[in-house]
Amino acid sequence: MTRQLPKTMKALQLLGVDQLVMTELPIPEPQAGEVLIKTRASTICTSDLHDIRENPFGIALPKVLGHEGAGVVVKCGPGVTECSVGDRVATHPVVPCGNCTECHRGFGHLCVNMGHLGIDRNGTFAAYYVHRADRLRRLPSDLPFPLGALLEPVANCLQAIARAGDVRGREVLVVGDGPFGNIIARLATRAGAGRVLVAGREPFRLGMIPGAEIVNAPARRSADVAILAVSSPEAFSTCLSALRKRGRLVVFSLLNQPVPIDLFGLHIDEQEIVGCCNDEDRMDESLACLLDPKLSLSALITHEVPFENWADAFHLARDRHDIALKVALTFE
Ligand SMILES: [Zn+2]
Ligand SMILES: [Zn+2]
Repeated sequence: MTRQLPKTMKALQLLGVDQLVMTELPIPEPQAGEVLIKTRASTICTSDLHDIRENPFGIALPKVLGHEGAGVVVKCGPGVTECSVGDRVATHPVVPCGNCTECHRGFGHLCVNMGHLGIDRNGTFAAYYVHRADRLRRLPSDLPFPLGALLEPVANCLQAIARAGDVRGREVLVVGDGPFGNIIARLATRAGAGRVLVAGREPFRLGMIPGAEIVNAPARRSADVAILAVSSPEAFSTCLSALRKRGRLVVFSLLNQPVPIDLFGLHIDEQEIVGCCNDEDRMDESLACLLDPKLSLSALITHEVPFENWADAFHLARDRHDIALKVALTFE
């Protein structure tokens, strides 16, 4: 039944810092437990922009970037039971080894031998990609592929809410108005937060968050929870200074430089700072969120750009915060 596949495909490869190029690569072959997916949409993540600009994770180059993908299964490797050829799917880029101490503790998202699309293996900015079959979810037929590509970012944001603890009736401050801040604010409302405040700089992006109150410089120390959703040391200080006694700060965004912390204040106010990275298999809940009309997550995708016009897509995602939030590359 498998239709004849072409031998090669178009792919966006990072060759070095600021050197993203369209190349022609062989179509990868799915191994045991893996599937080959014909990409239909891949959204650009803030971390892709970081990788292109400074490669903070030290990705071995060249590499096909991209980790937020959705498409159609076109070939299954031996032993695949999770899906079949023709299924519409969205993938989660994290591949836990299943054997290390963290995997045994149930923390596959903190796996010490973690595989990850676009980091240790070629990613989703390509006409086809290979992925482990247990790291995907089948999509309902009416769920568009660009929205499906948000499976992982939404799962990550659900982790931020989980790390915040019980937010019901409480005041949640989200610092950062990018795609993640935007999703986290919506999910905080969904989780029953009493008030959701968002601090950011871009009126267009702030205006897209239903139910949130916009604050420029939160002066009051009233937040039960502050979530850092932008990579800036100043935003970290904003979070900490807005926190009330016994409040909790969730470090969701990457800060790759040390920041000063007033431990005296933390001590006398019994505050907590917790990290948040990846998610504890929240794919099913994420899929439910994608399908929830009240969350209207499809509104986050402001642009769908054909793959061949990739340079325009990256320009929008990187430089046009006044009109763009989530930009999706689309494929035939
Ligand atoms: Zn991402
Ligand atoms: Zn592991």
